[in-house]
Formats: sequence, structure tokens, C-alpha cells
Amino acid sequence: MKKFKLVCFDVDGTLVDNVTFSWDVFHKYFGCDMDKRERTKKQFFDGKISYLDWAKHDIGMWVEKGARKEEFIAAIKGLTLMEGAEDTLLALKNAGMKLAIISGSLDVILGSLLPNYKEIFDDVFFSHLTFDSSGKLIGAKVTEFDMIKKADALRKIAEREKIPLQECVHIGDHFNDVEIAKIAGLSIAFNCTNDELLKVAKVVIEGKDLRKVLPHIIG
Ligand SMILES: [Mg+2]
Repeated sequence: MKKFKLVCFDVDGTLVDNVTFSWDVFHKYFGCDMDKRERTKKQFFDGKISYLDWAKHDIGMWVEKGARKEEFIAAIKGLTLMEGAEDTLLALKNAGMKLAIISGSLDVILGSLLPNYKEIFDDVFFSHLTFDSSGKLIGAKVTEFDMIKKADALRKIAEREKIPLQECVHIGDHFNDVEIAKIAGLSIAFNCTNDELLKVAKVVIEGKDLRKVLPHIIG
């Protein structure tokens, strides 16, 4: 009998390298007003606005800049899949695991680096940008399951699939992974620099080879 049945992945800094938070990559690329961005971010962390309001505000900044799909692709040209990511996903799938993405990242990133991600993952929670027929950004379908709500997404999947949380694995790298790490049966901090996550994670993987998680999940 296998010990684990579901493995949830963070995207930025976990499945994808050279990025901590993808939204910052786009803010920089589009030359957004960083003071305005920081003020809104603070409002969220102070509990004054919701995650969706924060996301809507930030996407509005890109819409105002007339952002285009090809520019989003150009902005992420320095990003790569994490070393060993494809091998890891394949090994977990071959071992019969269900795979999920629970992330605040944007679909354009994995869509570009791992175009068949919809076939690989059974569940995908992240934000989707919407473009008009000419390729101009017009809005987004934003996930609310980032930050502490990542844990809610895991609870949702586990309940639906009737998998005890004890049999769920989470792999992430930063502070937005702390709450989900607390409820997963096995939480893995991967190439992590966040003290809080390092403290709550059951396994800490140093370095950037995702294959290092495999012995802890499938032995
Ligand atoms: Mg991350």
C-alpha cells in the first residue's frame, strides 16, 4: 500500500527556476509604478483588501500599460523549468500519484515552459490571463487559492478525491506555502530561503534538483 496518493506543487521557485514571485517579473518588465504596487500589496497583508482585489489592481496596471501576450512571453525568457522537473513529474505519475498545482502563478509561465501541463496535472489552481483576439491583455481569471488559501485548495482536492490529508504531499519554496505545508502529511521545503517554511516543513531539500524529492515520496 502506497503511503502517499497526491502531490501538490508550487510553481514559482519550485517547478520554475529563476523566479521568486512571477507577478514581480511582469511588474518590472512593464515598468509599473512600484510604489503603487507596494501600497496595494501592503493593504492586502494588512488585511484591508482581499487577494482578489489585490490581483485585480495589479492586472489593471498591466492593462493600463497596453500589455500584450507576446510581451508576457518575452518577459519570462530568463525563466526555465526547475532542473529535474520533467523526470520528477513522470516518476510520480508512473508511481500512480495524483498531481496538482496550487499556486498564485500565472498560466502564461507554465503554458510556455511545460505546454502539456494540463495532461500532466489532475488539478490546476493558478491565475489565467485573458487576451483579446489581437493579443492584448483584457483581464484575468484569478485564483483565490494563494497565500494561506493554498491550504483550502488542498482540502478541496483531498475531500473530493477522498484522500486523507496525511496521504498528501506538498512541495514549495516560500512563505505562501507555510499554511498548506502545515496540513499536508508530508511537506517538503524545496530550495527554500524562508525561515517559517523551513520550520514547519518535514523535509528540507537544498539545491535545485527537483528529483531529490522522489526518495521521500516514493522511496
Ligand atoms: Mg514559490
